[in-house]
Amino acid sequence: MGLFDKFQNTAVMYEALIKDADRDPFAVSMDEMKGPTRAIVNGKEIVLAGTNNYLGLTFNEAAVAAAKEAVEQSGTGTTGSRFANGTYAAHRQLEVDLAKFLGYAHCVVFSTGYQANLGAISALAAPPNDVILIDADCHACIYDGCQLSGAETIRFRHNDPESLDKRLSRLGDKVQGKLVCLEGMYSMFGDTAPVKECIEIAHKHDAYVLLDEAHSFGVFGESGRGVCEADGVRDQVDFYTGTFSKSLASIGGFVASNHPELEYLRFSSRPYMFTASPSPANIAAASAALAKISTDSSMRERLWEKAKRVHAAFTQLGFDLCAPVGPVIAVKLADRQEACKAWNF
Ligand code: PMP
Repeated sequence: MGLFDKFQNTAVMYEALIKDADRDPFAVSMDEMKGPTRAIVNGKEIVLAGTNNYLGLTFNEAAVAAAKEAVEQSGTGTTGSRFANGTYAAHRQLEVDLAKFLGYAHCVVFSTGYQANLGAISALAAPPNDVILIDADCHACIYDGCQLSGAETIRFRHNDPESLDKRLSRLGDKVQGKLVCLEGMYSMFGDTAPVKECIEIAHKHDAYVLLDEAHSFGVFGESGRGVCEADGVRDQVDFYTGTFSKSLASIGGFVASNHPELEYLRFSSRPYMFTASPSPANIAAASAALAKISTDSSMRERLWEKAKRVHAAFTQLGFDLCAPVGPVIAVKLADRQEACKAWNF
């Protein structure tokens, strides 16, 4: 008793949601993958419209071959953390390659994108004198990083540089370190951040900026380096975080920066030090995907062409869309019930 009471509201909400639904959107299991965007579910081939596989590289020939070779050569797992016995030459090489591609001096690879944000934020900010300012719509792992840091955390209105400016202006003299967290593109609505304006404001107040380009890496910017590249401020980002689980078609994450202090994360970030490092296959696949993204812009061009087509078609059909054309096209619906119905359609 007691321990499970907190699930009551969730249980009621969940039951109400799936009561009249043919299929439960939270219980989908793909029986067979037919490619990056197709799978067999309950005997039927379906199109996967909700993946983060923006460039479709999970079945890229070079990435698959690299992953196979890595398993043959280095085994199925590392069984150790980056800090202890889980750093292989390939982890280091990927850090070098990512830093080079993004144009930063340093890069630290984590086991997931979640842990990259968790690990960077919790190591950078600390009570009692640091403050974190976070866009209200930031991903759960950014919120969790703030919580793990223990530092005071203040939300500013989503994509509102004025709100950020006001909150930074109100901070007292006791505040030492200030960290502003935002994302390049927000995945729920597909809207992009005013990165340039937010960076200008943050730096005006001597705050550092952590920008999560999880959904925008490989997709935005002339060479796929994200919204900060599209906005011409890539070199002004203090901490650039990303994941391997979207355009890079694998699993893992990273933080890149020009601040040499980034290297201290290796000795002070618990989500880096106390979890197993990404497997050889994951690293090899991400490396191959990065090589492809760095040398071939045609996938990005195709993605944008398709996004434009889908966005225009939905608009023509009368749907209310949440954001301009982009790799995530979100449709506004009345409520959860409506969304569940639409998903089942
Ligand atoms: N940042 C953002 C903005 C995300 O949406 C996600 C996952 N969807 C992550 C970080 C975490 O990435 P990963 O799946 O690699 O843990």
